[in-house]
Amino acid sequence: MVHSVARTTRWLKRCKAEMNRLNSLEDTINHNQMLFGINQGGIYEDIRVEHARQIAELDLDGYAVGGLAVGESHEDMYRILDAVVPHLPENKPTYLMGVGTPANILEAVDRGVDFFDCVYPSRNGRHGHVYTNHGKMNLFNAKYELDDRPIEEGCGCPACRSYSRAYIRHLLKAKEMLGMRLCVLHNLYFYNTMMEEIREAIEAGEYKAYKKRKLEGMMQ
Ligand SMILES: [Zn+2]
Repeated sequence: MVHSVARTTRWLKRCKAEMNRLNSLEDTINHNQMLFGINQGGIYEDIRVEHARQIAELDLDGYAVGGLAVGESHEDMYRILDAVVPHLPENKPTYLMGVGTPANILEAVDRGVDFFDCVYPSRNGRHGHVYTNHGKMNLFNAKYELDDRPIEEGCGCPACRSYSRAYIRHLLKAKEMLGMRLCVLHNLYFYNTMMEEIREAIEAGEYKAYKKRKLEGMMQ
């Protein structure tokens, strides 16, 4: 693990040098391209922290935490974020790669993460799994067969404004593409709305209360 992380650091230094070289040329197309350092080190706090210190010295545009999204437990993810994020520059964006569930995002923001990327809203949507403020629903379940409510009452997304759970379930069961599409639209809307709420709660100085309320609602 130590050798792998050392290789990652050497590679990053080469990337930075090559980017500086390219940016010194007149015909480089994108002089504003950004370079992020990616923290690695598995679930070993000491290796992670040492690597974070090394990449922080390189004064990059932003910093990512990688290698925590596939196979690692949520507990390990939170433990490593607790250990590592304080060693990344506070004035640069922090990016948690490949994460995650709404709860993962709420917990990671609390630990100082600024942004995320994840397949969940789209991939789970294609399987009829939709996220709501009252938890995740599987629209394939028989109990939604005659349910004429939207996926989530009060949701402003294109699926909830016009279609019922029963209709979307029918589309999914009939393998009609529109069913998947409506679920994905709802999930992307849900994630984007949650990120808006997170920004507002942080600006209002109420993030802890917001997180608690949101998590409690989703556990219902
Ligand atoms: Zn919706």
